[in-house]
Amino acid sequence: EIALRDLSKSFQIGGRSLRVLRNVNLDIRSGECLAIVGASGSGKTTLLRILAGVEAADAGKVLIDNKPIAGVGSERAVIFQEPRLLPWQTVLENVAFGLEVRGGHARHATERARHYISLVGLAEFADAYPKQLSGGMAQRVGIARALTVRPEILLLDEPFGALDAMTKLTMQEELERIWRDENVTMVLVTHDLEEAVYLADRVLVLPKSKDSNPKIIEIDLARPRDRSEPGFVRYRK
Ligand code: ATP
Repeated sequence: EIALRDLSKSFQIGGRSLRVLRNVNLDIRSGECLAIVGASGSGKTTLLRILAGVEAADAGKVLIDNKPIAGVGSERAVIFQEPRLLPWQTVLENVAFGLEVRGGHARHATERARHYISLVGLAEFADAYPKQLSGGMAQRVGIARALTVRPEILLLDEPFGALDAMTKLTMQEELERIWRDENVTMVLVTHDLEEAVYLADRVLVLPKSKDSNPKIIEIDLARPRDRSEPGFVRYRK
């Protein structure tokens, strides 16, 4: 379980202070998928970066299972909009690299990398180079690289934002399957409300004005999640 307690963050821009997060309090349940939405500039990425441990809050803390986080940790993996693959390494090397830099044994890393490359449907592309992949395939490599570390928590920042509409739909379905099978907690920053409703159990709406508090919207799991069900469209509106 992740607990955010009184998190605040401001940035200094051109001699003035811009308040981005004000007293954010939130509990993220183990195994849930929480989506973070909000207008551009509302602080979604900043909040995710604080969770990842790459940005420090000015005040407040993040606790994972009651322990405060200190920087990055192997229980958390981040997936960005662009997977940032190393162009001179193959798919297999890119995926294994994620574990090796965290101190994993090379042979062990390769075995695990192969497993997750198959899981995202790229077994036949293990020896391909990033430039030989489509955008969706490259993002699948990014997902495999994150999973190879066996994180408890996946932090995703607009993971499908750079993909075309059809690829995005396929990738959302694949991500949902992975989320169920791998039993990870997911925190997903997205601009796409349909994506939030499709994937998440709860949606955190960050207000643009720091005078109001973030809102949590619980998603009714009894509603159809299958996009082919007519009810899904209603929830899109
Ligand atoms: P978007 O949807 O456009 O990606 P966002 O909700 O993710 O926006 P953030 O990227 O968290 O918003 O940025 C929130 C605000 O903080 C913005 O106004 C931005 O200018 C500011 N900001 C973010 N990072 C920095 C930084 N390193 N230095 C100064 N200001 C920053």
